[in-house]
Amino acid sequence: MAGQKIDGKQFAESVRERVARQVDYLQSEHKLKPGLAVVLVGEDPASQVYVRNKNTATLKAGMKSEEIRLEASASQEEVLEVVRKLNEDSSIHGILVQLPLPPQVDETAVINAIDPAKDVDGFHVINTGRQAVGLDAMMPCTPLGCITLLKERLGDLSGLNAVVVGRSNIVGKPMASLLLAESCTVTIAHSRTKDLPEVCKRADILVAAVGRPEMIRGDWIKPGATVIDVGINRVNVDGGKTRLVGDVNFEEAIAIAEGVTPVPGGVGPMTIAFLLVNTVTAACRAHNIQLPEDI
Ligand code: NDP
Repeated sequence: MAGQKIDGKQFAESVRERVARQVDYLQSEHKLKPGLAVVLVGEDPASQVYVRNKNTATLKAGMKSEEIRLEASASQEEVLEVVRKLNEDSSIHGILVQLPLPPQVDETAVINAIDPAKDVDGFHVINTGRQAVGLDAMMPCTPLGCITLLKERLGDLSGLNAVVVGRSNIVGKPMASLLLAESCTVTIAHSRTKDLPEVCKRADILVAAVGRPEMIRGDWIKPGATVIDVGINRVNVDGGKTRLVGDVNFEEAIAIAEGVTPVPGGVGPMTIAFLLVNTVTAACRAHNIQLPEDI
């Protein structure tokens, strides 16, 4: 029996509605408007689209949104100066520097210059370290979105075999860490993994974060597995047009898996929704506010 499409877009919408209610509460009860600043350096077309989407979602949730654009030729010192100012700005609770940065700017230095309490991307080394040892930390938005989708769908994840393909600091590693925290038995696969199809086939939960169009085929998937496709790949189609595909061959996967996230409309919208969640969390922590559970 064919599996189901896991509708990340619809679920993200409900997360965003909840965030909007929380923002309303913070404004009416605490006179607090959460603020997110996004820094964009250069004119990378994909980054421009991401930044525009983040800006729209932030405003729609009722938050303050600030966009700072710098020329592609900006120096590292100029980028660091922007980050320093945002760190000191009390109306800004979350800071996101859109990656990739131009080659003359050291990404690690910039990320680690962000106040860890405002690091809504969860990439700062302090947050990474806290995540690794299981302390309360700002978690990266994409893995946070994926684990939320999985828990919503499967309930208790404990004891399940999870395979994460990809070991990047922004997706693969934090994803594995969140699955481990849910007591899954976790395998991290990467470009040197031997017999990847066999490794994938052991997974009750398969997370693909590779960046290779439709690399994961139907016969790599265990019947009844849940598949989360993080990949976003633009491929050429007939007539000089392009379209987005994931790292998983969706048609093949859905014929064998229990559920599969589509691309687009799966993990992507969850990432933006959890950026808003992290910004509200940062604002509440900065003002020592506990949000009521029932909002
Ligand atoms: P990276 O390029 O940083 O990491 C890719 C990982 O895939 C690496 O660990 C690499 O292994 C592994 N890999 C590459 N080729 C193979 C292969 N043939 N077999 C097995 N493993 C392989 O990518 P990111 O983690 O940043 O992103 C992954 C994908 O997710 C991209 O398509 C990106 O666009 C997308 N993405 C989507 C987001 C969303 O919101 N939906 C957010 C962030 C990313 P090794 O380490 O050995 O080189």
